[in-house]
Amino acid sequence: MWQAEALIDLDAVAQNVTYLRGLSAADIMAVVKADGYGHGAVPVARAALAGGATWLGVTSLDEAYALRDAGIREPVLAWSVSPGTPTADAVRREIDLSVGGTTQLSEVVAGAREAGRPARVHLRVDLDDVGARRGSPGGPDPAVADGSPDGWSDLVVAAAKAQADGTVDIVGAWGDLDCGATPGHPDVDRRLAAFRDALTGAERAGLRPRLRHVASSAGLLTRPDTHFDLVRAGIGCYGYSPVAEPSTRAGLRPAMTLRARVLLVKRVSAGQGVSYGLTYTTSRPATLAVVPVGYADGVPRGASGIGPLLLGGARRTVAGRVCMDQFVVDVGDDPVAEGDMAVLFGPGSQGEPTADDWASVLSTTSYEIVSRIGPRVRRRHVGAAAVPTAGVAG
Ligand SMILES: *Cc1c(COP(=O)(O)O)cnc(C)c1O
Repeated sequence: MWQAEALIDLDAVAQNVTYLRGLSAADIMAVVKADGYGHGAVPVARAALAGGATWLGVTSLDEAYALRDAGIREPVLAWSVSPGTPTADAVRREIDLSVGGTTQLSEVVAGAREAGRPARVHLRVDLDDVGARRGSPGGPDPAVADGSPDGWSDLVVAAAKAQADGTVDIVGAWGDLDCGATPGHPDVDRRLAAFRDALTGAERAGLRPRLRHVASSAGLLTRPDTHFDLVRAGIGCYGYSPVAEPSTRAGLRPAMTLRARVLLVKRVSAGQGVSYGLTYTTSRPATLAVVPVGYADGVPRGASGIGPLLLGGARRTVAGRVCMDQFVVDVGDDPVAEGDMAVLFGPGSQGEPTADDWASVLSTTSYEIVSRIGPRVRRRHVGAAAVPTAGVAG
């Protein structure tokens, strides 16, 4: 008998990807870092591929290896590989690597020599500081040959040489637009212009990266001019939009439902302090329900007194402190019983809050709400895209 579970609707993931793919001529890379934003990287990756994604994106090599270990053969890009990390296995296992500088390029070349085959590389354009420079009065710094970032021309020359030597295949060139919640921000235009300059620089060095990519979900949903050949979509695959504009949510369905069974109910008199710290006091005789998920499970302690949930057919609010393992809800005189289901968030179709609702009361993002669900909460994957996992009963 489980107490708390994150129900993951893999059909929603597949349909979200299909919807996102329809927004662009570009290919879709489903970003499954951080255990698929808390949804389970491997099942989500399979569902995203079924929905039409042709690439998978992760940060670390360990995340990439987990996909390969599960038998996933599609292209995988890992973009946050720490300096000094051995890369020969990544080359052998056909994991595409992001390279942002000449030192890192030498390490990847060493890995390729050890593996005895070329490394597949996406050159990373650092768009973080060009925005400010290009936006400075008088335009780009005249000391810089073009609008591309420092170090880029050295990198493309070294990469062209390594490609000629047969140690690397320069598959892609990419950067981060950081559109975030403000896709119309002028910084996005400056970054985009800097990326185009960088592509011109790469071409001058003799490189023609087949896959140019800068957009994440925000760019995909709001800025067609950022799509290029490939779009790295994370949060959109999980059914949330990073952009405030409500129309960007229309085609998306949240995939995760977080729910827990009421552990205990008790009837108390007026004036009863509730939970650690007694920050909440009943104003009348009331029924209190204890919900067995807490901050160790990813229910933020900041949700004390404000976190929304659906319980006993009505929207309610966390009463008092969120503890490590549980929180309390005051259900008044409603007939809530032990074992009843408390739904913290889900797609919103049954009256339950969404992760966006949690994000708005906590001044955070849906990304943080879904990705922090802890390991004690069992993940259950449902939908046609779900493959039964040994040891986990459906
Ligand atoms: C996480 C990440 C993404 C996905 O971003 P979303 O906003 O979730 O679509 C794309 N690119 C990079 C480099 C990332 O780290």
